[in-house]
Amino acid sequence: MKSRTIAIAGGGAAGFFAAIAAANANPRAQVVLFEKSPELLSKVTLSGGGRCNVTHHCFDVPRLLLNYPRGARELNGPYRRFQPRDTVEWFESRGVPLKVESDGRMFPVTDSSSSIVNCLRKEAEEAGVRVFTRRGLCAFQPGAQGFALRLTDGTAFEAERLLLATGGNKATAGYSLAASVGHTIEAPVPSLFTFTIEDSTLRDLAGISMPDAQITAPAQRLAQKGPLLITHWGLSGPAALKLSAWGAREFAGCEYTFDILVSWQRGPRDVFAAQLADCRKRHPRRVVVGGGVLEAPARLWEWLCRRAEIPADRQWAQLSKAGENRLLEEIYACRLSVNGKSLYKDEFVTCGGVRLSEVDFRTMESKRCPGLHFAGELLDVDAVTGGFNFQAAWTSGWIAGRAMAGAE
Ligand SMILES: Cc1cc2nc3c(=O)[nH]c(=O)nc-3n(C[C@H](O)[C@H](O)[C@H](O)COP(=O)(O)OP(=O)(O)OC[C@H]3O[C@@H](n4cnc5c(N)ncnc54)[C@H](O)[C@@H]3O)c2cc1C
Repeated sequence: MKSRTIAIAGGGAAGFFAAIAAANANPRAQVVLFEKSPELLSKVTLSGGGRCNVTHHCFDVPRLLLNYPRGARELNGPYRRFQPRDTVEWFESRGVPLKVESDGRMFPVTDSSSSIVNCLRKEAEEAGVRVFTRRGLCAFQPGAQGFALRLTDGTAFEAERLLLATGGNKATAGYSLAASVGHTIEAPVPSLFTFTIEDSTLRDLAGISMPDAQITAPAQRLAQKGPLLITHWGLSGPAALKLSAWGAREFAGCEYTFDILVSWQRGPRDVFAAQLADCRKRHPRRVVVGGGVLEAPARLWEWLCRRAEIPADRQWAQLSKAGENRLLEEIYACRLSVNGKSLYKDEFVTCGGVRLSEVDFRTMESKRCPGLHFAGELLDVDAVTGGFNFQAAWTSGWIAGRAMAGAE
C-alpha cells in the first residue's frame, strides 16, 4: 500500500476509531488527529452516566436499523461490514470485555467508561497515530495533491485525505467546514429529550414508572411504546425518549408545544372494560378510587379517577356508564399538553447534519469533494438510546479509516 498522509478532525468516538482503523490498515500511512478542545474522547467519558453504553446486543442488521430515525437506509451497507458483533469482538480482543444488560445495552464489565477511553488511546498510540489537542481545524482548501489545512493554533498542515468527525455540536465549525465545499446541512435540532408538562397534579406522581405504556402524538402521527416515567417536570423513560427521537424535527417545528395521548396500560380496551364490569359485579360497595383493577400505584389510579370526575365516595355499583367511559378514556388516551423539553443527561444527540445523499456510504467519502470523508454524528444519522449512536460512530469511523488508508 502507498504511503499517504491522513488528517482527522475530531478526537471523539468516530475520529479515534477511524484513526486506528486507518493506521492498522496501512502501516505506511501517516495518521494525524486534530482535536479542538483540550480533552480527547470527552463524550465517551461522560456517556451512559460514566459507564459508556458502547453498543447494543442486536446482531441482526434489519432489526438494528429499526432504531435509527435518520440514517437507517444508508447504514444498511455499512452494518453488513461492521456491526455490533464486530464492536464487541474489537473491544474484547483488546482486553475490554463487554456485558449485556436485560434491555440489550452493552457496557464494559468494569462499568467504567475509562476502560473504553484508555483502550482507544492505547490502540491509537500503538498504531502510531499522532494526536494533537487544542488544535482544531478552522478551514481547508482542496487542491491537486489533497488538502491544505488551517488550524486554530495558527499552524498549517497538508494531507492527502481528510476526515471530518467533528460531532453534532452546532457551536463547532464542523457544519460550516462541510458546507464550505458544497455540502448541504440538514438543520440541526436536538433529539433524545424528555417532555415538560406544566401540570401540578402530575408532579405529585413523580417517581411512578409504568412498564408497558404507549405515548401518541396525534398531530404528528407518531406513537411509541415502552416504560414511561413520571418526573418532577413531566414525562421521561424509554417511551418518551423514543418518541422525541422519531419526532425530533416535527417537535422542533412546533416549538415543543403539542398534545400527547398516554395509554397507561397496553392490551385491548374491551378486555379492560370487561374487568371494570367484573369489578362492579364483585365489589359493588367498594369505592372506585380504592383501585384494584389497573396494575398501577394507588396514586396514579386516584389521579385518573379525579381526571375522570369520579367522586371519592363513588361506589362501583353507582358508577354510571358515562363515568366508566371517562375512566377508560383516561386510562387509554390520557390527554396531556407538552410545553417544552428538558435535557436527558444520560444521552442526547443531534438530528440533522451533512445530507446523506451527498456521501458514499461504501467509503464514507464525499460525493462533492474527492478525498474528503465523514464519520459520526456530523452526519444526519442518529438513533434512539441504547448504544446505537456509538455504534454508528464506530462503524462509520471504521469504514472511513480503512477507505482513507487505501484498504478498500
Ligand atoms: C452526555 C451524553 C451521553 C451519551 N451517552 C451515550 C451512550 O451511552 N451510548 C451511545 O451510543 N451514545 C451516547 N451518546 C451519544 C454519543 O456520545 C455520540 O453519538 C458520539 O459521541 C458521536 O461521536 P462523534 O465522534 O461523531 O462526535 P463527538 O463524540 O462529539 O466528537 C467530536 C469531537 O470533535 C471535536 N471537534 C469539534 N470541532 C472540531 C474542529 N473544528 N476541529 C477538531 N476537532 C473538533 C470535538 O471537540 C469532539 O471532541 C451520549 C451523548 C451525550 C452528550
